[in-house]
Amino acid sequence: MKTLQDLGEFGFIEHFAQQFHAGRDVIKGIGDDAAVMDMEGDEYLLMTTDMLVEGTHFLRTTMSAQEIGRKALACSISDIAAMGGRPTHAVISLGVPGNLVYQFVEDIGKGISLLAKEYGVSIVGGDTVKNTRMIINVALLGRVKKTDVIYRKGAKKGDIIFVTGALGNSFKTRKHLHFKPMVEEAQFLVQHARPTAMMDVSDGLAGDLGHILKQGRVGAVLYEDKIPLASGATLYQALHDGEDFELLFTINPSEAAQLRQTKRFHFFEIGKIVSGEALMLMNSSGKKRTIDMKGFEHF
Ligand code: ADP
Ligand code: MG
Repeated sequence: MKTLQDLGEFGFIEHFAQQFHAGRDVIKGIGDDAAVMDMEGDEYLLMTTDMLVEGTHFLRTTMSAQEIGRKALACSISDIAAMGGRPTHAVISLGVPGNLVYQFVEDIGKGISLLAKEYGVSIVGGDTVKNTRMIINVALLGRVKKTDVIYRKGAKKGDIIFVTGALGNSFKTRKHLHFKPMVEEAQFLVQHARPTAMMDVSDGLAGDLGHILKQGRVGAVLYEDKIPLASGATLYQALHDGEDFELLFTINPSEAAQLRQTKRFHFFEIGKIVSGEALMLMNSSGKKRTIDMKGFEHF
């Protein structure tokens, strides 16, 4: 009998997903940062969910309740941004031990509430159950103009690859807790320089770019010395660590020229899309080597 470990996280999701039916209103179901559903009018409805589990994603001893709450919502906002959308409504489900001090849970709520206000998200419900390990799940809805939605699929040979910021070492720097979900940057992009493909970097550049490459049936060359490294991060960490929550996008060369001139944001140009389905790293002397499209996987 196969175990989940045998399948790997993404192999599992692929198998698990096969058994579900999606109605005709589902424009994009499983396999992107958020699901995309048709609505009347000129917008799509977006939906995403993220779960944080004590011991796996956070430890009560190393981060405050407010930080845990903030992160739970921030991860989901990041996924909505990655579709080119704006977050709107969330529900929060909690698994909590009965002997937990109430103040701790209130502070989780405070972390959620401050970020929700900043991003215009209304908290409209949730669920509460008793559990030995603490679990927080946020499900978030968003909206996107039908003409603005961007998928992981769509990268074409010749496109330029960009990221919005530095990568790697996010646990040490605590960026995994304090990162700013890139809604404004994504809105700027969809309005001014429409990317061909986009996602947020939650599992490391190599693994996440791997999703864009597989879905577009293309390959990529990354310029080793152009990948922006976060303070203290190694190239290896930038490629294979998790939880940077920067946006990773591809864009055709004429739109890219426009992007380089903008003063409002700085986008880092890190590579280009090529034919074939390999991910290559090129050093400053032009030497290329193929690297594994492996990012963080839960199993
Ligand atoms: P992200 O890192 O952007 O949150 P994930 O890697 O967690 O995305 O998930 C990839 C895709 O698989 C998403 O479309 C997500 O909705 C889907 N997915 C993950 N777990 C499950 C599950 N248990 N059941 C159905 N779909 C799932
Ligand atoms: Mg994502």
